[in-house]
Amino acid sequence: MDNRKIYVTQPALPPLAEFIPYLQEIWNSKTLTNNGPYHQQLEKALCEYLGVPHIALFCNGTIALMTALKALRIQGEVITTPYSFVCTSHSLLWNDLQPVFVDVDPVTLNLDPRRIEEAITPQTSAILPVHCYGLPVNTVEIQRIADVYGLKVIYDAAHAFGVKQKGESILNAGDLSVLSLHATKVFNTFEGGAIICQDEKTKQRIDYLKNFGFADEVTVMAPGINGKMSELNAAMGLLQLKYVDEAIEKRLRIQALYRELLADVRGIEQLAVPDDVEWNGAYFPVFVNGHYPISRDALYARLQEHGIHGRRYFFPLISSMPMYRGLPSANPRKLPNAHQAAEKVLCLPIFPDLALEDVAKICVIIDEASRG
Ligand SMILES: *Cc1c(COP(=O)(O)O)cnc(C)c1O
Repeated sequence: MDNRKIYVTQPALPPLAEFIPYLQEIWNSKTLTNNGPYHQQLEKALCEYLGVPHIALFCNGTIALMTALKALRIQGEVITTPYSFVCTSHSLLWNDLQPVFVDVDPVTLNLDPRRIEEAITPQTSAILPVHCYGLPVNTVEIQRIADVYGLKVIYDAAHAFGVKQKGESILNAGDLSVLSLHATKVFNTFEGGAIICQDEKTKQRIDYLKNFGFADEVTVMAPGINGKMSELNAAMGLLQLKYVDEAIEKRLRIQALYRELLADVRGIEQLAVPDDVEWNGAYFPVFVNGHYPISRDALYARLQEHGIHGRRYFFPLISSMPMYRGLPSANPRKLPNAHQAAEKVLCLPIFPDLALEDVAKICVIIDEASRG
C-alpha cells in the first residue's frame, strides 16, 4: 500500500475562490462580528435548512452547551451519558452542576431510557443526552420521563446536523438542542456551535447570554459570556451550506459501501440505522466483538501500520476520567454497556472526500485480520 495517511476525518472545504467574495464584503463593511449580516443570514438559512424555529449561533459547541444550561437555569444534578466526548460533562462542571452517569443501551450506544428513572433524585433538574454518532436517542421515552418528573431536556446534538426522524428534525426534540460546527463535524464553520430553541423568548435570552448579558447599550440582563460567532465563521457557514447536501450524500455512499463489505466479516458488528431515521453518516463505528481473532486495540494498531488512523470514539469513558471517576454514578459496575462499548468500538475513516477505493482497502485489511 502507498504511504498516504488516512485519518478518521478530514474537514470538508468548499472551493477557496468562492470564499473570496465573502472576505471582500467583510473587508468592505468592516463588520467583523456582533450579530453582523452574515451571522443573521446564516441563522435564517440554518433555520430553513434544518427545519427548526430558532437558532442562536455560537463560537463553538462547548460554549453553546454551557450557555444552554445557563439559559434554562439548570441546578443540582443532571443525568447524562458517560459515552460521549468530554465536553458533554465538562459543560456541567463549568456550571457547578453534578453529572449523574446513566448507562447506555447496548445496541444503540445511546443513553438508555430504562435506566433513567432509578437515577432521579430530588436534586435532579435536567437530562443531557447525546445523539451519539448522529443516531437519535429515544427522544419520545426521554420526554415522557422528563414530563413525569418535571425535568428539562437539553440534547447534545453535536453529531446530529441534518438528522431527521419520521420526517422531522431531531433538533426539535426536548427544550434545547446544541450543535457543534467544529472542523471535524458534518457541517463546519471552522469553529462554531449553535443552540436550537422552540420559542422567541428563549432565543432572546440565549442571545443576551452569548453577548455578555447585554440587552441594549446600558442594560445588562444576566452574567453572560462572550459566545458570539464572528462574520468570518458565519460567511464560511453560508458557503458550506451550498455543499452540505452533497457532502452528506458522499458520506452515505461511503457508509453503504462499508456496510456491504463488512457485512460478512466475522466478529465485526455494525450499528443499525432505524428505518424511520434519515442519517447524516457522521461517523462509522464498528463493534469488534469476541469472534474477531484480535482485540479492538490490535485492529486499531494494525490499521495504523497501513496508514489508516481510526479513532476509539469514545475511549476512555468520561466517567473514567480523574475529575469524574470519584462520583457515585461513575462506578464501572453501574455502567457495563458503556465500558463494553469503550473497549470494543472503533470508528473507521469517513469524510466526503474519502475515495471508495480507500474504503475497499480498509475493508480488505479488516477482513484479512479476521481470518487470523
Ligand atoms: C464536537 C462535540 C462537541 C462540541 O465541540 P466543540 O469543538 O466545542 O464545537 C460536543 N459534544 C460532542 C459529543 C462532540 O462530539
